[in-house]
Amino acid sequence: MSIENNIKFFNDTLRGTGAKLIAVSKTQPVEKLQEAYAAGQRIFGENKVQEMEEKYHQLPKDIEWHMIGHLQTNKVKHIAPFVSLIHSVDSLKLLHEINKQGKKINRSVPCLLQVFIAQEETKFGFDESELLQLVQNFPVELTHVQINGLMGMASLTDNQTQIRNEFRGLRNLFDRLASQPLASQIELKELSMGMSSDFSIAVEEGSTLVRIGTAIFGERNYQKT
Ligand SMILES: *Cc1c(COP(=O)(O)O)cnc(C)c1O
Repeated sequence: MSIENNIKFFNDTLRGTGAKLIAVSKTQPVEKLQEAYAAGQRIFGENKVQEMEEKYHQLPKDIEWHMIGHLQTNKVKHIAPFVSLIHSVDSLKLLHEINKQGKKINRSVPCLLQVFIAQEETKFGFDESELLQLVQNFPVELTHVQINGLMGMASLTDNQTQIRNEFRGLRNLFDRLASQPLASQIELKELSMGMSSDFSIAVEEGSTLVRIGTAIFGERNYQKT
């Protein structure tokens, strides 16, 4: 399958579901992103600041760049001017830094709060009680961030029931939060969940943004840097 056909497949599959396609292009060469762009894809997801910056400079300016990987505070300044959405806000410290950089350039930076839903030790994110605490007592001084929703990653497992339960739990949490009075910087509209292996479950459970890498571009080529 070509990248063009894969993009078409996902557009067809997602049509009418309310979920948008993010083409996760991390580690992929610019030529492959250009193929996806030629097929109409305009949202790309990257997980490394430097790589995203380089690709941003090389590719058309109507692309939306989404940061989906763990973000170090000292790198926020590089992407704050152009990033369309940071999915991976996993600490209050990071949120304060995003706010600081947004303030400098007079831009309110769109963010998702990453929620820890997997039964694994290694994943980043807020747990449920931390999330409630943050959203219900949102710091008033965070004037240059915009919280647009939540992001989660299910466990790496073949157990479809477990994956579904994890996504469903996140959806329920999202609905619960969205039904409360919230600070003006919070507008819960996006629920980022689902990757190549589990996107169909995620969409059934209410995802609005699926993050698809290998099913579009093929296997990733990791290189030592
Ligand atoms: C790499 C990555 C994806 C895409 O994974 P695939 O299995 O290639 O679709 C999605 N989300 C995050 C956070 C990632 O790091």
